[in-house]
Amino acid sequence: MENGNIAHPITEPVYTRAPYWQDVPDEKWMDWRWQMSNRLNTVSELEKVINLTDAERAALNANDLFRVDITPYFASLIDPNDPNCPVRKQVIPTSREMVPFQSMMEDSLAEDKHSPVPGLVHRYPDRVLMLITTQCASYCRYCTRSRIVGDPTQTFSRKEFDAQIEYIENTPQIRDVLLSGGDPMVLAPKLLDMILGRLRAIPHIEIIRIGSRVPVFLPMRVNEQFCEMVQKYHPLWLNIHVNHPKEITPELGAAMDRLTRAGVPVGNQSVLLAGVNDSVHIQRKLVHELVKIRVRPYYLYQCDLVEGSGHFRTPVSKGIEIIEGLRGHTSGYAVPTYVVDAPGGGGKIPVMPNYVLTQAPGKVVLRNFEGFITTYTEPIDYDPHAIEAQEKLIAPRPEPGQEGLLKLLDGEQMYIEPEGFSDVRARGGAEHRLRSGEISQKWQPLGVGAIESQEPQALEATTETKESA
Ligand SMILES: *Cc1c(COP(=O)(O)O)cnc(C)c1O
Ligand code: SF4
Repeated sequence: MENGNIAHPITEPVYTRAPYWQDVPDEKWMDWRWQMSNRLNTVSELEKVINLTDAERAALNANDLFRVDITPYFASLIDPNDPNCPVRKQVIPTSREMVPFQSMMEDSLAEDKHSPVPGLVHRYPDRVLMLITTQCASYCRYCTRSRIVGDPTQTFSRKEFDAQIEYIENTPQIRDVLLSGGDPMVLAPKLLDMILGRLRAIPHIEIIRIGSRVPVFLPMRVNEQFCEMVQKYHPLWLNIHVNHPKEITPELGAAMDRLTRAGVPVGNQSVLLAGVNDSVHIQRKLVHELVKIRVRPYYLYQCDLVEGSGHFRTPVSKGIEIIEGLRGHTSGYAVPTYVVDAPGGGGKIPVMPNYVLTQAPGKVVLRNFEGFITTYTEPIDYDPHAIEAQEKLIAPRPEPGQEGLLKLLDGEQMYIEPEGFSDVRARGGAEHRLRSGEISQKWQPLGVGAIESQEPQALEATTETKESA
């Protein structure tokens, strides 16, 4: 089905093209394979389109540099004479990329450490991240997976796809599979089709998601054949990755129109990048342009502590300021969730301004986006148990292996202690009459967790004693 675009040309006018490529026939320019094989990656190629600075030239000539490749389409968005162009900074390296910084790591999210099978990260109870390629259409200088991305020798083999899919098949708690990489949309169309088909055949997989920057680097890839192919696997969701309003072109708009008509809900993930989009005004413009092309801002990420990204990092307070400038000031649909992906592998942690000023029983004092302060009066006769009969009609979803705050709220556990906490507090003292194994019952809170393991009579007896006292 995928025979390039010659038989099925994309007919919208070609808007975005640097003078260097003016003579390329439209069918070639709009053919994603032509774009892929004509990418720029050397100083001499880049210089035909962009006036490079010394710092850029130095970086491009360095050894061990994270891969450079830029599609002609995306290169055409770069201002050739402005070293501060926000599109340029995302894909053209500078010598600042080679400056180490405190806490930087190769795999700051500890993805490979928390991965049961190569390329599969099962960090959250009900969903997995499945890396299916290390290749991308162009390479972002701050890429969180630069440890593997760009390197064709690191890419995943057929055997590894099989192992990933087998793990998903054997793990019924997974209901959502997120395909990423690298970029799943640069995979051979047949291979992507095959992987989607195998995932869709697994009964417990409810939704499939694709995370891709291809629509931004290479909107011509979102052709009719692609849209027809993904429709076979609904419900399928897709997140793109736009950081600056300059990336929102008529071509991207047309690609999003085709994709949303194919029934794919589209979101956007941005990375907060110094010198690119660390501004309330730029972010506001970005989210407005996104919702105009029917793309819903999903996440705004704090830049990870990854090698090469030092000069792109901002304080976390910049992200909070941006959310402060969006929430309430513009459509709720246009406000992403700002997240810090926890170094060491804790997953995404949402961060936002404080809207709760203070609380007392029966009252919450809140402030709005303008600084208006109000009180919400809480009910005094609220019965949290009244819903239980209805709740029983919905089968609970077990979350094997998950402990934590939910257990505290469910009353299964009363506290969480750091490893070795009890030993530290015992201060090396010997077992003594007030602290011995036999009477450790006294630290068992009544009615919290471990009830099943207690003798029922013992619990009743305790209750009776309490009542008769
Ligand atoms: C981001 C991510 C997901 C998906 O998270 P959502 O908050 O559901 O979008 C899943 N697994 C890993 C490892 C991730 O990093
Ligand atoms: S498209 Fe995604 S995976 Fe590829 S280089 Fe950019 S951030 Fe990394």
